[in-house]
Amino acid sequence: MVAANGTASSNLDRTTRSRALIDPFQRAITYLRVSVTDRCDFRCVYCMSEHMSFLPKADLLSLEELDRLCSAFVSRGVRKLRLTGGEPLVRRGIMTLVASLSRHLESGALDELTITTNGSQLEKYADELKAYGVARINVSLDTLDPDKFRSITRWGELGKVMAGIDAALAAGLKIKINAVALKGVNEDELGDLLAWAHGRGMDLTVIEVMPLGDIDESRLDQYMPLSLVRARLAQRYTLEDIDYRTGGPARYVRVKETGGRLGFITPMTHNFCESCNRVRVTCTGTLYMCLGQNDAADLRAPLRASASDDLLQAAIDEAISRKPKGHDFLIDRRHNGPALTRHMSTTGG
Ligand code: SAM
Repeated sequence: MVAANGTASSNLDRTTRSRALIDPFQRAITYLRVSVTDRCDFRCVYCMSEHMSFLPKADLLSLEELDRLCSAFVSRGVRKLRLTGGEPLVRRGIMTLVASLSRHLESGALDELTITTNGSQLEKYADELKAYGVARINVSLDTLDPDKFRSITRWGELGKVMAGIDAALAAGLKIKINAVALKGVNEDELGDLLAWAHGRGMDLTVIEVMPLGDIDESRLDQYMPLSLVRARLAQRYTLEDIDYRTGGPARYVRVKETGGRLGFITPMTHNFCESCNRVRVTCTGTLYMCLGQNDAADLRAPLRASASDDLLQAAIDEAISRKPKGHDFLIDRRHNGPALTRHMSTTGG
């Protein structure tokens, strides 16, 4: 065992490092999501309040440190890396990180390097992402109506996102559209969003809104269970269960009429924790073992304490030994505040 305070001997660390990361519930950790910045050029109403305070730049890990951190996880069996945020493509120099991480794709250590983006900067970066081995990306888009888009994102411009999607498809990137189901906002539009996405060869995943962080609105006003979304879509489309998995939490159906895939991410109505293979690290090097729990481990201090990765690896081991069984989000009239005070933009979606 590695000591909890990170003082295990180098020998022990070396042995540990050759092992996969297995949590107390025998789940192998093979997927790391990295929030490379907490900043975003949008202010989506379910994600952030309009006036957010962001971390001082000095607190952020440098791109080199992020690379070292990701690489430490890759050396322990992580096969899928997702860069997220905040908006990952607004982090200055982000392509330097993508370029350096792509060596793990070339070596075969990594199966997939990908990003989740709001699409606003995609027009600029699509070709480079493709060139560095990124094959599939997630683009978050909740509506096709420009006015509604502006009111959901507060600051976003639909035309820019559409241009980004065009550029990404032209570059040969596979796209999955992620849409958060919002009561009274886009609930009537999800069928059209599906037709549009599948018509352009993109998968669509719908997501239940989660109670993360203080926002300016009530969650109760936003939340709608995906069982309802699915029932409504089933009135218009034939939904066939399939086994397709991407290593993430979505469960998929095939839509018979379009031939495309539709995913459901249901943290509220059906918690998918039993098969969780993920951990998340923030741009300050804080490791969250569960999106829905507060427990976290600081990886920045061990990373900076020494040029060798021994302390860092010991801290990762200790944190994984504390990965909880799951989350228990709840949105109801008695629990209308955030289940957790941190925003999705801190941990990354
Ligand atoms: N800026 C990027 C983007 O827009 O995709 C990456 C970060 S964003 C936090 C990642 C995803 O989380 C987006 O699809 C967003 O819609 C989703 N999201 C944010 N807050 C959420 C919440 N409270 N519940 C459910 N999904 C949320």
